[in-house]
Amino acid sequence: MPRGMTDTPLTLFNSLTRKPEPFEPVHPGEARVYSCGPTVYNYPHIGNMRAYVFADVLGRTLSFKGYKLTHVINITDVGHLTDDADEGEDKMEKMAAQQAQSIWDIAEHYKQAYWADVRALNIRQPAQWTVATDYVPQMIDFAKGIADRHCYELDSGLYFDVSTVADYGRLARAQTDEGEGRIEAVEGKRNAADFAIWRKTPPGEKRQMEWDSPWGRGAPGWHLECSVMSGEVLGFPFDIHTGGIDHREIHHPNEIAQNQARCCTNGLDVAENSGARVWMHNNFLVERSGKMSKSSGDFLRLQLLIDKGFHPLAYRMMCLQAHYRSELEFSWDGLQAALTRLKRMVMQAEALAVVETGDLTAARSHPKFAPLVEKFDAAISDDLNTPVALTVLEDVLATKKVDGGLKRAIVADMDSVLGLGLLDLKRADFRIPPKSAAISESAIEEALERRKLARAEKDFATSDAIRDELAAKGVEVMDGDPLGWEWKPGD
Ligand code: AMP
Ligand code: ZN
Repeated sequence: MPRGMTDTPLTLFNSLTRKPEPFEPVHPGEARVYSCGPTVYNYPHIGNMRAYVFADVLGRTLSFKGYKLTHVINITDVGHLTDDADEGEDKMEKMAAQQAQSIWDIAEHYKQAYWADVRALNIRQPAQWTVATDYVPQMIDFAKGIADRHCYELDSGLYFDVSTVADYGRLARAQTDEGEGRIEAVEGKRNAADFAIWRKTPPGEKRQMEWDSPWGRGAPGWHLECSVMSGEVLGFPFDIHTGGIDHREIHHPNEIAQNQARCCTNGLDVAENSGARVWMHNNFLVERSGKMSKSSGDFLRLQLLIDKGFHPLAYRMMCLQAHYRSELEFSWDGLQAALTRLKRMVMQAEALAVVETGDLTAARSHPKFAPLVEKFDAAISDDLNTPVALTVLEDVLATKKVDGGLKRAIVADMDSVLGLGLLDLKRADFRIPPKSAAISESAIEEALERRKLARAEKDFATSDAIRDELAAKGVEVMDGDPLGWEWKPGD
């Protein structure tokens, strides 16, 4: 998609081939993307949200490069077991039982909580949120279409026989029969990697969520959901399928096997039959003390960061500072550094608040901006190199003696990809009181008033004492700054 003189072709790393590849859309000028969404049985942790920040940057980049984007994210409200490989209990049923609530209420509550995080992180709304329970009839139809050739029935459900598709597991590069740690949990499975696409409700039991099917009353398998929702909404083959790197091992190989069963006619290239041409995976956010695990009680949710006084976009900044394919280690110091960097950029961008946006084409060809525009485009086109793209945007913000309107146009253009909301944020937005705040805003203003008087009387001892007193309560006084004070994120 040409964007002018500086256009660099977009290259994306395809997990299927383990190589960067030039992006070639299935439908010229369009980009159709499906992202595996959350299972809404609990709050998302910030690691989960890294997956959606990544998918968002991908979508924003495709828009920036001129493609008409259709992005779909699903909401899984049925069928996801506590273990990806057919083991354990249904996550939703388990939480509903623990909280003595209906599954539908659990799903609604955690879907809303996820959407709140999506908004707080400036993740753009996809064209469609597909909810798994809205697609059960289509799932049954899909399963019916492949059952004869690819599935077999056991007492517990309908199973997919992975030996019936060519090159099963090529995405994971796993040895199917070795099973990569898979346990043959279900008696009668033909291959360890076979998986349920329909799970029958055991006799005498009743699930909160169950439907009639040709294989008895029960619920769809988690892998089936994504094959059905992506194919229904985007059509096979579509362009890009995303998820966290854990999905490269089981969930996505299983989706691919189903898609292949559905699409495959002999002689067609298997890459074309994987459902999506490009499969992309973000690496994990890791945290050494185990606070990422949802079973750890006070786990790392975005709200926890906010409760400590961090603006949520500091976390987005933290994600952008790492390449999506690199592991990212979470630390409070790292988050603090990301917050400081974001604040600095917001302060520089504030000067642009009063100017009108200039012409983007003129701005892009301006001698001060043209090399930066080219560098930004090259970075983001190189498999979404956000760490470099960020530094280029900082260079733009630091450009002196240039028309403010043109600068604003470039900042808006680059930030349309990074999504930090630089032209909307104000210094004051960073005044987030930590939950543990020992002082109110009015008491801070009152103390600052006393301090002003002390300084006017050259009583520096009192003035310093007030500053220290505020510092002890988590408030930073900034002399010479028009805003005057800010909360310091605490421990
Ligand atoms: P789930 O709700 O468990 O299906 O996970 C939602 C998304 O988060 C999936 O794409 C996972 O692959 C991804 N994910 C899970 N844990 C992490 C993590 N620690 N860092 C990054 N992504 C993750
Ligand atoms: Zn999925």
